[in-house]
Amino acid sequence: MHKYSVKCPTCGEVQDPMSLTCSKGHDSLLRTFYKTSQLIPRDLPGIWKFYDWLPVDDIIPEGSGKTITYKSEAFAKELGLSNLYVAFNGYWPEKNASMMTCTFKDLEAFPTMQRLLERQDKRVMVVASAGNTARSFAHVCCITGQTLLLVVPENSAHRLWTLHENTSPICLVTVEGDYYNAIEVANKVAAREGFVTEGGAKNVARRDGMGTVMLDAVFTMKELPMHYFQAVGSGTGGISAWEASMRLIQDGRFGKELPQLHLAQNLPCAPLISMWLGNTATKDTVNENCPKDMYDDVLFNRKPPFSANGGVRDALQATGGRMYGIDNAAAAYAQQLFEKLENIDINPASAIAVAALIEAVEKENIDKSDSIVLNITGGGMERLRMDCNLHSIVPDMHISAHDSEAELKIVEIISQKFKR
Ligand SMILES: *Cc1c(COP(=O)(O)O)cnc(C)c1O
Repeated sequence: MHKYSVKCPTCGEVQDPMSLTCSKGHDSLLRTFYKTSQLIPRDLPGIWKFYDWLPVDDIIPEGSGKTITYKSEAFAKELGLSNLYVAFNGYWPEKNASMMTCTFKDLEAFPTMQRLLERQDKRVMVVASAGNTARSFAHVCCITGQTLLLVVPENSAHRLWTLHENTSPICLVTVEGDYYNAIEVANKVAAREGFVTEGGAKNVARRDGMGTVMLDAVFTMKELPMHYFQAVGSGTGGISAWEASMRLIQDGRFGKELPQLHLAQNLPCAPLISMWLGNTATKDTVNENCPKDMYDDVLFNRKPPFSANGGVRDALQATGGRMYGIDNAAAAYAQQLFEKLENIDINPASAIAVAALIEAVEKENIDKSDSIVLNITGGGMERLRMDCNLHSIVPDMHISAHDSEAELKIVEIISQKFKR
């Protein structure tokens, strides 16, 4: 057997490793199966420490960073918790954390682009994003030189910064409109010859990359935690934590119980909560103004992979999981408390997870001595500004979502920019 194979969890059939869907048409998230059942961390940089459980045959040595897991003292004490571990994704040199885009989207972008490199796939990668995913793909492509088309809503453009001076592999298009307008335009372009999409939650490289958060936590704690807290938009990180935990149980050294997933969304823009509760969107969990006024709009996703086999519902059911709805006031309180006690700035999305943990303690959903992993999905941006110059990525073009020529204009600018 090759290092890994990709199978459909519904029919068990082996699939093309790059496929995003089952060849038999099952509505499932394909899953990776690795030859190595006991994971031995490698002496490789960043995320590649977990090389044996990543669906790649080589690495991008420069620039990846990885999760840093540490046992919380001050914040844990404030909540009365004796076994709280923080899985930190971002920049924090005092703790050797060097994820230079300051969110865990790097964990998805590196393995995804490595797989294209291995296949000598020269197509232009198309990414539509509210910001953090775009920033991570931009970072990787500035390192590898792979060409990238970013389609971003104009009011997310402030998230598009990089440490790289040369951003020539990137073409940035800003769209007047929301994230869905950006996705629509991007999908049309991506369907053309010469372009490729990353596939979101369906992409096993993205999920196994995100799964390294759980791997890092468990190698630090020497056992599976009882609880895993994360702020979610698509829920992909929750699915990934569950899949990594199943592998760790198979490994045999870390325990037999799946960690319980505690997934948090920002009220009143929380479609996953509506789906989980079984009603269609209610006023309390999604309204027509969303994602306006969210604490962090990177957490808004209208079409999360909820009901597909191996999706968010299965992850919650298998782990006895819970969902939390967090309002802006609770998030703001959680953010300042965490930042003050742990002495690092965090991304607003991460504060939603911190608030969920505070709520879980208050409602006694967890015992104070339980082992807990709190995924800080992004942090250290203010810390990074102290050390480095952040360059804004300059848009190559601005389009209106209602422009019927939008797609053609993008194709035209790509061929000029990349001489193809
Ligand atoms: C994308 C993102 C999330 C949500 O991730 P999921 O894909 O829903 O797991 C949480 N925090 C930050 C900082 C993010 O960028």
